[in-house]
Amino acid sequence: MRDADLIPGDSNKASTSGGETFYPGPSRIHLAAFPPKERWDDWTELDSQAWPRRKERRYSLVPTTCFNCESACGLLAYIDKETNQVQKFEGNPENPGSRGRNCAKGPATLNQITDPDRILYPLKRAGKRGAGKWERVGWDEVLDTIAARIRKAIVEDRRDEIMYHVGRPGEDGFTERILAAWGVDGHNSHTNICSSGAREGYQLWMGLDRPSPDHANAKVIFLISAHLESGHYFNPHAQRVIDGKASGAKLIVFDTRLSNTATHADHFISPYPGSEAAILLSIANYLIQNSLYNREFVRRWWNWEEYLAQRSEFGDQRSDKQPRSGEMFIGTDAQHDLLRAQQDAEHLAALGDSNKANGSINIARLRRSDSADFEEFEGILKEVYAEYTFEFAAKESGVEANALEEIAKVVATAGTRFSSHNWRSATSGISHGWSVARCLFMLNALLGAVATEGGVFPNAWNKFVPKPIHTPPHPKMWNEKTWPREFPLAMHEMSFLLPHFLKDGRGRLDTYFTRVYNPVWTNPDGFSWIEALTDENLVGCHVALTPVWNETSYFADYILPMGLGPERHDIHSYETHDAQWLGFRQPVMRAARQRNGEDVNDTREVNPGEVWEENEFWMELTWRIDRDGSLGIRQFVESRKNPGQRLGVDEYYGWIFENSVPGLPEKAAAENLTPLEFMRRYGSFEISRKVGAIYEEEVPAEELDDVAEDHFGRVFTRAAKPASPNVVPIPSPDGDADGRRLVGVKVDGEIKRGFPTPSGKLEFYSKTLADWGWHEYAIPTYIKSHVHPDNLEADQTILISTFRIPIQIHTRSANAKWLNEIAHTNPLWLHPKHAAKLGVRTGDLVRVETEIGYFVVKAWVTEGIKPGIVACSHHMGRWKVHENGQKQMMATVKLDHEGTQWGLERESGASPYESKDADTLRIWWNDVGVHQNLTFPVHPDPISGMHCWHQAVRVRKAESADSYGDIHVDTEKSREVYRKWLTMTRPADKYSPDQTRRPYWMLRPLKPAREFYKLPESTKPAPR
Ligand code: SF4
Repeated sequence: MRDADLIPGDSNKASTSGGETFYPGPSRIHLAAFPPKERWDDWTELDSQAWPRRKERRYSLVPTTCFNCESACGLLAYIDKETNQVQKFEGNPENPGSRGRNCAKGPATLNQITDPDRILYPLKRAGKRGAGKWERVGWDEVLDTIAARIRKAIVEDRRDEIMYHVGRPGEDGFTERILAAWGVDGHNSHTNICSSGAREGYQLWMGLDRPSPDHANAKVIFLISAHLESGHYFNPHAQRVIDGKASGAKLIVFDTRLSNTATHADHFISPYPGSEAAILLSIANYLIQNSLYNREFVRRWWNWEEYLAQRSEFGDQRSDKQPRSGEMFIGTDAQHDLLRAQQDAEHLAALGDSNKANGSINIARLRRSDSADFEEFEGILKEVYAEYTFEFAAKESGVEANALEEIAKVVATAGTRFSSHNWRSATSGISHGWSVARCLFMLNALLGAVATEGGVFPNAWNKFVPKPIHTPPHPKMWNEKTWPREFPLAMHEMSFLLPHFLKDGRGRLDTYFTRVYNPVWTNPDGFSWIEALTDENLVGCHVALTPVWNETSYFADYILPMGLGPERHDIHSYETHDAQWLGFRQPVMRAARQRNGEDVNDTREVNPGEVWEENEFWMELTWRIDRDGSLGIRQFVESRKNPGQRLGVDEYYGWIFENSVPGLPEKAAAENLTPLEFMRRYGSFEISRKVGAIYEEEVPAEELDDVAEDHFGRVFTRAAKPASPNVVPIPSPDGDADGRRLVGVKVDGEIKRGFPTPSGKLEFYSKTLADWGWHEYAIPTYIKSHVHPDNLEADQTILISTFRIPIQIHTRSANAKWLNEIAHTNPLWLHPKHAAKLGVRTGDLVRVETEIGYFVVKAWVTEGIKPGIVACSHHMGRWKVHENGQKQMMATVKLDHEGTQWGLERESGASPYESKDADTLRIWWNDVGVHQNLTFPVHPDPISGMHCWHQAVRVRKAESADSYGDIHVDTEKSREVYRKWLTMTRPADKYSPDQTRRPYWMLRPLKPAREFYKLPESTKPAPR
């Protein structure tokens, strides 16, 4: 191999020698890091466990993708040819996202598939729901029972009683299409306890809701939170951050904790939680006041003309009002009612005074676009942001002004090579956390570092979702249990409020699926979930689809064993860098057998016990819901090759790979393979790289037919949208009044693609926020959060509960013994000064009191946290009430309640036990941590809908009667907090500018047909 073939940081770059493919390792000393792909059918290695004997093992190497987080890194299963068992998992060098690398959780997939406690057969409850009694049932009985329930609900038009609730999907759209085939708006996700805050901030700017940072080519990398050890996408992004650093990039990290990422930073600060946007705006202000921004980019691509137009119309009070307190008002109910009444009155007065059509600006007379106008805008920008001085940010954040100035100076050097990322952390911790992502992206927008090498791309440009074989229509309904009218701008379903909505009497559920999701444990307010799930009037039938026992499955009617990453099919594509690629998850034993010429028609034939995969399960269930096709549902799971028969996974994926993935059929043919065989052999395919700045592309002439241009340069056409095999969700801004669609935006006389926003530009000014009642936030603004010192009592502090450690992820990594041995507890981080005040030392028990109860946890005194703030990792504290469970990581507990008073008491921790795995007798740890989320009430952000995780708490020494792991909660208090936060919303039936439930242009999973966006007649706001 030649040195020139060895590219540092690009270990999947294949080089050939002697007819074989070598993957250079990072050492660059001619060591092949992975087996050449030509030998994946028969690879020989020495058996490490036989050492010092030289025993050879022969393997088939079969690719799949990891399912332990959403990054979908490539894995290679080493299937022993003698035992026909998977011996180990390593990285797949053919995967363009992960490039052969994995975090610890990837190889630990082996622990999961051999887990002695996993669920192998379908189970049905044998006693009361939650009583812990189960009996084994056959798949046929399960399918027929559930299919009959769903069919009945559909026929009786109770479609809003069917709900599918997913954790991380790990696939691109399959199950959404199943629900669409049923005509059900029943998709529910975990996103509003995860990333909706960040999504809202990004969507407000660029239409698309997540960033794709090009860290590897950046000059400055700016991370809010611990992306190196727990980012999203974790391993693919972490390795590119390190590549960037190796090439000389400066790394800036904001994190209240001293994370592993912080230890790699060139500039690390530990701000007061919630002050991040103030700091970001002080950096923006530095760039603005010193004219260090990319003036030409701002002129061409910000919607400043629209901003100036609305300013002339409304004056500066409408969007320049910079509220700094009181917005997240934590007061009494009476005070809330008063505040709410004031807000409503102000809103109505604004509408009355302005007398504007639709409450929005009269663009017909307000085109502002010459250079004098841009200079005026620059002047206003200087004025509006002048108050965000380093001194102001220092006061809010507790970080010295000169440290902030130093960071601003580094940012200013980045030019268009500025990559930044904030996914959870502040955006998911605080009320209006979306403003943090918005203010962070403002730095990119100021520098012009958008879709540039080393900059940040809108995610959809670096993602490929292939068109499937069948595409059902949009559901003809709107589900208010997931998309209630209080949250018209929520980025995702208001999933974590479900128990409260059911208790409010907003409907019931007939059939509720939880899919690899554990809301009792993962969500806040878990006891309210238990109350709802145990009430058969609220939830008729709960079906838990899960590979392992979890706290929610205990309250199910059926537990259905689903395959782990190497036991199921999925396709996915993620924005790991500036490229588009497709990954293929597959049951590795099925692929291995097919490689040997065997027929496998059902994944249960190769999985352990009766573990199934979801795709076959959903197709079969759908088939049985409509066996005769009379409901029009069956057609969406019907074979095209064999009409009248159900579609199988080989045909489903074979069709996609043949028809919807550009370049794949040709590449496969060159190796004498079908596209499906190619994907089964290599597990991924790179469709394109260096996608670049799509917004700068000129719209081709064939797309311009009878065009019309509006006052802000938006161009509309009658030409139909060209068909694309890439069906990645893109926002759909409205067309013009004459039925043309928005095709681009005119910039300096040329019609460009622009951004998928209503203005076609990057939206410094959000007309959407202004129109939907949030005019005071129409431009990027700092908003004091629910945990701002103004909103805390003197004896309260902030608990950060959102951080995680790199070797565990929520409930997925349960019983991964290698991981559990490394990390199995979650002490409370306390600064020494704070600990001294409390009289607490490491290992002492402390009681952490929230708004609804308390938990008792061990203290860990460390200088790695800002003094006065406390933190507790959210992975731990798994529990079981009965014998069944993941014994390596679950404590056995006693659950008690009287009325709304709930208690959880730990009876025993983990301990050695006998199983088919001898290692379970070697378990040396007892502590499995504390389940803090049970003690958190719901905090729905009024705009993004995100649960705001940070808690205002009181921390004190535990009482003598307290024991480790004790939890107490009053769910009536949860109800009070829920009601209080609802009062902060601005509901569609009062604030909608067009009598709809939600802006149609915004992204929404499983979008209903457009007519169902209309509010019901009786609830529409008065026409404006
Ligand atoms: S858990 Fe680790 S190896 Fe698996 S997908 Fe996530 S980052 Fe990749």
